[in-house]
Amino acid sequence: MSSDQSPTTVPFDAARVAKAVRQRLQSLQRSGVTAIRSPGKSQTDLSELEKQLAAIEQNGLPALEATAESAAQAEIETPPAGQPEPTFTAEQALAPESPSINLSTPQDTSDMPSKKQRELDIVCQEVANCTACAELASTRQNTVFGVGNSNARLVFYGEAPGADEDKHGEPFVGRAGKLLNKIIEAMGLTRDEIYILNTIKCRPPGNRNPTPDEQQNCAGFLQRQLDIIQPEYIVCLGAIASHSFLECKTPIGKMRGQFFDKNGIKVLCTFHPAYLLRDPRRKRDVWDDIQFLMKDMGLKIPKKPEGVT
Ligand code: URA
Repeated sequence: MSSDQSPTTVPFDAARVAKAVRQRLQSLQRSGVTAIRSPGKSQTDLSELEKQLAAIEQNGLPALEATAESAAQAEIETPPAGQPEPTFTAEQALAPESPSINLSTPQDTSDMPSKKQRELDIVCQEVANCTACAELASTRQNTVFGVGNSNARLVFYGEAPGADEDKHGEPFVGRAGKLLNKIIEAMGLTRDEIYILNTIKCRPPGNRNPTPDEQQNCAGFLQRQLDIIQPEYIVCLGAIASHSFLECKTPIGKMRGQFFDKNGIKVLCTFHPAYLLRDPRRKRDVWDDIQFLMKDMGLKIPKKPEGVT
């Protein structure tokens, strides 16, 4: 680090690198790697590294630099018998610039996440006070604004909150949400690296489809969220989201497997996780779509995604 670096950039860089290292650690653990070793040094359990990382996340950059440096020198320790021998080094696995962890937009500079988050908070407050759809406003427990990273490259766009989402005020927290989480994890990501929202912010009673008027009433909020986040990619989950966002009526089966352009955003349409719960054979199609997306995003595709196919 140069001596004239602004002090305000240091905590942000530390957090960003720590986050990248954490994601890499999790990815290694999922791959069955249990320890890493620096050449000529004893091995370190990943669980031990995780503890160190937690301390770094709390205490800041100096310790992180030491860890990132030693991690960059290290080699992956071969896992116990029966597990595949890793063919990559920790330098490759933990490098913050690895495409699989380059998840934020190019505009991601030190002051932007909090600024963007503050802007989102303002819209969120307006949503919480919104009564444009009289029926929804009088029956909802909570508005469901959206959740995730205000700098996300990728947004998942669902249909409408259900009972669980209405209760918790967060999108995709019920059964369909658990399956969406598996898809996100299979991509090597976490919910706080992407953003999740719906066509409307309130639960339609009885889980009916949102009406065109309701979608229209909410469209301004959605547009403002997207203007703030500026994602590169949007995945529309299911026909309602796809038709609403792309203003068309093409069957979802004909829309999937390709990108559409909307105002410079690459839009991918695929089946809704709730549909996958009813017809698990379609999981394969969704995983094909997700791999298509991952390739374009420069993300590393796992050999065996769990619970997704
Ligand atoms: N289904 C959706 O489309 N959105 C949610 O938030 C939950 C389930």
